[in-house]
Amino acid sequence: MVHAMARVVVVFDFDKTIIDCDSDNWVVEQLGINDIFTQLLPTLPWNSLMDRMMMELHSQKKTIQDIADCLKQVPLHPKIISGIKSAHASGCDLRIVSDANTIFIETILKHYGLMDCFSEIITNPSYVDEEGRLRILHYHHHHFNSSAHGCTICPPNMCKGLVMETMRASVSAEGKSQFVYVGDGTPDFCAAMKLEQGDIVMPRKNFPLRDLIYNNKNLIKANIQEWSDGEDLGTKLQLIDAIEEKCSSLKPGTFVPADCKLQTASSISARDSFARNLLPVPR
Ligand SMILES: [Mg+2]
Ligand SMILES: [Zn+2]
Repeated sequence: MVHAMARVVVVFDFDKTIIDCDSDNWVVEQLGINDIFTQLLPTLPWNSLMDRMMMELHSQKKTIQDIADCLKQVPLHPKIISGIKSAHASGCDLRIVSDANTIFIETILKHYGLMDCFSEIITNPSYVDEEGRLRILHYHHHHFNSSAHGCTICPPNMCKGLVMETMRASVSAEGKSQFVYVGDGTPDFCAAMKLEQGDIVMPRKNFPLRDLIYNNKNLIKANIQEWSDGEDLGTKLQLIDAIEEKCSSLKPGTFVPADCKLQTASSISARDSFARNLLPVPR
């Protein structure tokens, strides 16, 4: 009996994951408003502070084009570019969940020719107002008309766990799916807690998400596959389509990653060896 193949949905954080830096910090530093940023940091939530910083740039006669030119200089590791293209070409559904904003993310993705690889980008809405100032709104205010998401892990403007729940509900309505979540930060842990058995969470080594996962393993149902840098993540992304083939051969026709996990997941060492089978990394 042959079951339908699970659709693989790869959800990426953006800052310090797809790009190695933080796009907000990059703009603040490159356009020389670090001092006022640092001064106001204790007084405003991050997202509101960034909106305020865009006002600052506008008052200094910096244009939206200046901001775009600055964003196009954000480095993106060539392996990440090829890894994303390869995962997309192999049929994975790629999405972004980020606390940056639409204009920052889309400017960078378009610059590197990656925009068409993503089916959805969930982030804070941004737009250029009639005076030419870039405005950054709050995701939850904008989409749910509510200021309180009730999560104590995430910043007030966006709860990534809530985003993942909503995304899973809409994806699951269309059939069986396996989620892979790639991230580095604390709000990514909120998203990771929403993953199910058979999903994969990919935390970045030496960043908060990784430690949160290992200190709270009872809260994580997904398999864990660490990565270290752009080279490493890009290489692993190129192998994502191989996940299914590898596991499928163990038990053809069944929903694969969950089966793989059942065979091996009882201890950390078993989990590690499972992870090696799942995503072999050439060295
Ligand atoms: Mg991040
Ligand atoms: Zn949250």
